[in-house]
Amino acid sequence: MPLQIVHHPDYDAGFATNHRFPMSKYPLLMEALRARGMAGPEALNTATPAPASWLKLAHAADYVDQVISCSVPEKIEREIGFPIDPRVSLRAQLATGGTVLAARLALRHGIACNTAGGSHHARRAQGAGFCTFNDVAVASLVLLAEGAAQNILVVDLDVHQGDGTADILTGDPRVFTFSMHGDRNYPVRKIASDLDIALPDGTGDTAYLERLATILPQLSARAHWDLVFYNAGVDVHAEDRLGRLALSNDGLRSRDEMVIGHFRGLGIPVCGVIGGGYSTDVPALAARHAILFEAASGYA
Ligand SMILES: [Zn+2]
Repeated sequence: MPLQIVHHPDYDAGFATNHRFPMSKYPLLMEALRARGMAGPEALNTATPAPASWLKLAHAADYVDQVISCSVPEKIEREIGFPIDPRVSLRAQLATGGTVLAARLALRHGIACNTAGGSHHARRAQGAGFCTFNDVAVASLVLLAEGAAQNILVVDLDVHQGDGTADILTGDPRVFTFSMHGDRNYPVRKIASDLDIALPDGTGDTAYLERLATILPQLSARAHWDLVFYNAGVDVHAEDRLGRLALSNDGLRSRDEMVIGHFRGLGIPVCGVIGGGYSTDVPALAARHAILFEAASGYA
């Protein structure tokens, strides 16, 4: 069976090509997956919008209603980085529903990936930093509420600290939040995860992978995990517009294979989400995001 991939064409909310958020990476990632023979009918699953009842498990009810009715206050829209119009609202609901579906597929098949997700700056009260809803937090709380999982581990390797996920989930004993990120990257005020590792600017492949190899066995030893959410943000790449960590494409590939191989080797299901990645060379960016899917395919 091929790697199960969750997607929806409306993950792309059609921003102008010069927008700071490279929205066209979503269709280009699908193109890259198709070119690699990974997006056949047996592999593709269509996301459906997350209902308000799921979103309200992780977010304040008034904020969820504001996003759904496209009446988010301007001050919050500025913190998010774009206005919440009907297309952006739909894409946020779809990306969140997509991560819930990918998590269910991971529980069933061992591994599955969403072609969006990893909106880890969205806090309980509101969105921020290009993140409207926190899909991983919502999916965790949906699975826990349903009894589909009891212990969940979040491994967040996006270059930015997972402040929103920490805000929503830290303190919940059923979820362990781990973030390894660039110390000097956004957000300036970080919210403590259960475990944070802050790396200096310019950390390259070797030091990064050594650190990761040390921490993974410690994470898997903490509890019996029913599911791992893996935020595979590619903004750790040397050519990323926002990141400062200087990883190469080979470094990205080794990172993804190390994380997925570690947990799959222990029989723990892994749900991959793509996380951040910023470049004006969007085809190159899409190819970086495709590395997660290539690595995951080896364990499907
Ligand atoms: Zn990021």
